[in-house]
Amino acid sequence: MAKLTEAQRQQRAAARARREALEAEERDRRDTERREMWQREGMYLSWEEYQAGEPCRGCGEPMRDDLGDWPPLLRLTEEEKREYEVAEERFRERHSDCKSSRWSISGSRVTHCFGCCPPPPMGPQQIKKLSELFASWPSAEERKKDQDAWKLTLTCDHVVRYTQHRENSYVSTSVVDCPECPGRRGVVHSERIGPAYSDEAILADRGAADRERLAKELAAAKAKLQRQQKNAAATQRRIEEIEKQLKPVPDASE
Ligand SMILES: [Zn+2]
Ligand SMILES: [Zn+2]
Ligand SMILES: [Zn+2]
Repeated sequence: MAKLTEAQRQQRAAARARREALEAEERDRRDTERREMWQREGMYLSWEEYQAGEPCRGCGEPMRDDLGDWPPLLRLTEEEKREYEVAEERFRERHSDCKSSRWSISGSRVTHCFGCCPPPPMGPQQIKKLSELFASWPSAEERKKDQDAWKLTLTCDHVVRYTQHRENSYVSTSVVDCPECPGRRGVVHSERIGPAYSDEAILADRGAADRERLAKELAAAKAKLQRQQKNAAATQRRIEEIEKQLKPVPDASE
């Protein structure tokens, strides 16, 4: 076979990138549809239901069996090997057409399917940890100085700007919202442009944030003054009413 010319090679790479972007877009669409369906059909377990031991609403298996994680496959005893095979067979029967990967809860051997089984609910501990994590994040303004802008070409041929942390050497998402098309689009090509925000822009932002805060404080102070003025007017009227009632009674003897 003749060797590919540089132009042919580039053409093939471009065609492959487009095909992969379309596949990512399709996967994303299916995932979104599935999550919406689970939501609509009430298939997610609440924390209370999960705690009470309700089975998975996707496959009907227990969410967790608390048997402990499987030991490494090479260290299974003969009995464990048989149990493992039975569990494998059971999974294959239930999910013969799924082609999805699996998940299981830590400390448990029963496996669930990403295609059929809604993930377990978050517990109060997990929610607490997550909110602590969010709270420890630098502010949006602080993060700006470490952000790079990228230029993404999407499957719809629209070019959009994308920002992410400078440490990333490639764009970490394969699908983004296109402001000009409905739905999300696969990323065909990405190119780093450089720092997303100039120092001046960051300073200007900080100034804008300060101004916005001051404007809010001013509005709150004005509203308070207005309330106080209304109260004062009402008190004033009340004083006048009382004074009227206190007018000296004309002397009947005169
Ligand atoms: Zn399941
Ligand atoms: Zn499945
Ligand atoms: Zn588009």
